[in-house]
Amino acid sequence: MMNNNQLLLWSLVLSVVAGVSADASAQPTFSIAEDVAAVRIESSGQNFTPRQSVTPGGAPRHTSDYDLTVIWAPGEWRAREEWALHALYPSDVNMNFTMTYHESLGLTEGQDSLSPSPEKRPMGGARIGANFKTLWLTNPLILAAHGEVVAASEFRAAGGRYERVAIVAHDTQWSMVVDQATGLPVEVSTVEADPHRGDIEHRVVFEDWREVAGIPFPYRVKQFLEDKLLRREIRTSIIVNPEISPGLFQLPENLQDTEESLREWGWSMSHFSIARAGLGIPQDYFETHGVSFHEIGEDLYQIRGSEGDHNLLIVGPDGLAIVDAPWFDQRSEEVLSELAERWPGKPLKYLILTHHHIDHSGGFKAYLQAGAALVTGRGNAALFSDALEHAGHEAAAIIAVGENATLDEIGRRIEVYEIVNTHADATLIAYVPDERLAFVTDLYSPGRSRNRPRGVSELLTSIRFHGIDVERFVGGHGEGSGHPDNE
Ligand SMILES: [Zn+2]
Repeated sequence: MMNNNQLLLWSLVLSVVAGVSADASAQPTFSIAEDVAAVRIESSGQNFTPRQSVTPGGAPRHTSDYDLTVIWAPGEWRAREEWALHALYPSDVNMNFTMTYHESLGLTEGQDSLSPSPEKRPMGGARIGANFKTLWLTNPLILAAHGEVVAASEFRAAGGRYERVAIVAHDTQWSMVVDQATGLPVEVSTVEADPHRGDIEHRVVFEDWREVAGIPFPYRVKQFLEDKLLRREIRTSIIVNPEISPGLFQLPENLQDTEESLREWGWSMSHFSIARAGLGIPQDYFETHGVSFHEIGEDLYQIRGSEGDHNLLIVGPDGLAIVDAPWFDQRSEEVLSELAERWPGKPLKYLILTHHHIDHSGGFKAYLQAGAALVTGRGNAALFSDALEHAGHEAAAIIAVGENATLDEIGRRIEVYEIVNTHADATLIAYVPDERLAFVTDLYSPGRSRNRPRGVSELLTSIRFHGIDVERFVGGHGEGSGHPDNE
């Protein structure tokens, strides 16, 4: 049985969610949509990157801890975030920055990235879209108050009674589960795009509800990409309608509007933006611009992307092989159209993936659709075949490599070897014996100053174990070719 307080909350939530009052006597005397002009939330939490795990499909990588203050005026599409972010992976760096943003433009001040950047700079559109999405997702009653209920149905689970409420807000469908015993949302989810798996659920779970100015707020919030933890935080202070100093949301006059397509992209995959920002590598673009081919050996090309994530093309008399598929299918499509132009009629026989991290494999589906067989470490095979199935793609031929394998379908010998390392399980390198050249990702990046001694030593130890004579490496990062012994 509900007590009076719960009944009141339940009726409040129902009225917010459904736009009707469940019980006239319990009718709330205010409306969240109209009366909550702004909210100030202080929290501390942790970021995780599910697609950066050591083991394919394994525990998400813990990438950073943070303290955050958000001031958000939902009806006006104004927000300011003040971050103290302690990045832990891939580098241990403390960062302090603020983001002030309106619906279509914003300003970042301070350091939000491992790489140096100007003190003040315009926010990218993708991040604006993703940040707003996150605010709506993590504040379910405010979301409901600004949306419209289009369907509701009751269900029972784990001994409780729940209501699943479909809400449309901001041209997006959200699914809210309300616990009938408390009248409060236990989770909100929405469908987002994922490079590997196509449509996936971005789900937020709410716990520890407390009233602030008569309105319930969750004080523990956990965000998931499907079943993988993305972010979790505890809120330490919430103020409804805080005092807002004049100029708090103010932006420089000369700031330009961002591209709508980028804002929509960020909104449609906010999980991706959260994960990248949590690594201290915020990302605001599709990496499809400026793909370029650089010959680094006979019929061997490093395919560079504009932002430093590359793949390798091996041209043989009977076909082509690609190593790695950075980021997105859109980038792979760009590479494929270049292949069709330069080597018309030459079939793409192999896509070799060095490891499962999304920055080097997110564009894999396009190459498989073009007819390539997938060559990957044995420990990755299930992850990629599940992803294909989940995304509604045809199953592909998968060559699951244990210690090593030889590929000879392009009329030129390619060897692949497992490299045991702590960055990612089931990692491979691709070796072209006629050029004594190997393609490696993340463990060593030719010409880069930031090479980590551990990755280099893991690479060279495995190379010695396999007994191959590598003269030069070319990397998924770094430009051209090189060898750690010569640096
Ligand atoms: Zn990696």
